[in-house]
Amino acid sequence: MSDLDPFANPEGFGFETRAIRAGQPHDPQTGAVTMPIHQSTTFAQEAVGEHKGFEYSRTGNPTRRALEECLASLEEGRFGRSFASGMSATDAILRYLRPGDHLILGDDAYGGTFRLISRVYGEAGIDYSAVDLTDPEALAAAWQPNTKLVWLETPTNPLLTVFDIRAIADVAHANDGLCVVDNTFATPYLQQPLRHGADIVTHSVTKYLGGHSDVVGGFVATNSEDIDARLGFIQNGAGAVPGPMDCFLTLRGIKTLAIRMDRATDNAEKIVELLQAHPAVSRVRYPGVADHPGHEIAKSQMSRFGAMVSFELAAGKAAAMELAKSTTVFTLAESLGAVESLIEHPGAMTHLSAAGSPLEVPDSLLRLSVGIESASDLLNDLQTALDAV
Ligand code: PLP
Repeated sequence: MSDLDPFANPEGFGFETRAIRAGQPHDPQTGAVTMPIHQSTTFAQEAVGEHKGFEYSRTGNPTRRALEECLASLEEGRFGRSFASGMSATDAILRYLRPGDHLILGDDAYGGTFRLISRVYGEAGIDYSAVDLTDPEALAAAWQPNTKLVWLETPTNPLLTVFDIRAIADVAHANDGLCVVDNTFATPYLQQPLRHGADIVTHSVTKYLGGHSDVVGGFVATNSEDIDARLGFIQNGAGAVPGPMDCFLTLRGIKTLAIRMDRATDNAEKIVELLQAHPAVSRVRYPGVADHPGHEIAKSQMSRFGAMVSFELAAGKAAAMELAKSTTVFTLAESLGAVESLIEHPGAMTHLSAAGSPLEVPDSLLRLSVGIESASDLLNDLQTALDAV
């Protein structure tokens, strides 16, 4: 976060104002109120090594810098780094690990994160354990002398399990380890993990931050200068950076994050009521309902409960597959977090790579990413599809 940018200061300005202004000063030459797309790959130097802060766009780019400062401000982190995808952000964090190291992963997480940890890092000699992080004592018991970090999502993808960030960070710190939180589902509008003791917060920017299903990206924030320096070295050294146009699109999406999240959450709450009342549904997973096992923790670390909803059908897998293709307003597609509502079958789609592992998900499970369409259209669509099960 730049000390020179008054709009980046969380004590000076509210979330919505920072989402629109942080890191984005008006262009001094033209007065342009939106951040220009600095497509240039290289920047003129007055003498060797004398420049205006930018040399080469893999190393640093003004549009990317604006995005990094804006998102760092929203996460209330001192430092932020943008990446070409959520997975490349995850990869940049995991490069901290060395052969022989071990990490602990929550026992529900995005299938791609599990694949990267179990397959790519597994083959590089880095071991992992999948642990039920709802029990901090289980985490403490699973911590080994070579464990370097614990990785969690909360709420998780796709089971919407809630983990207590503070309790988990405490265990990590008691063991000289790091606590990393993937905050993709909640977004910084609803939850700021660094405030609760996390050392690193990461995002698939592709989801709510971009918000319009038109850009793939990743982000990492931290308050540690050392961690940021390491991430910066990897960002430049490995080069998985987003292009300026993608940074611009993400900045544009972020400006409406708060109102999109509120509207999508309003819609999700209505859908949860419908699902709870429907006889075809055997279980609804949403942290906002009082009987969700993590409801009290969610209340303590989230301002609202978000717009991701998962549910199981009493009639099992075949019925879930059938329902997934029978909605009209909900589009059957992977991904989440955008203005349009999506439905998917995690077991066969986003979490296929976790099949047969401790992270396998129930095959009667469907996941909804609730968007900001008219609530009545979403409710009618789902009601019709469920009535036909
Ligand atoms: N983290 C979570 C929680 C996700 O849901 C995803 C993608 O679905 C990722 C990380 C990976 O992000 P990306 O698809 O932008 O690489």
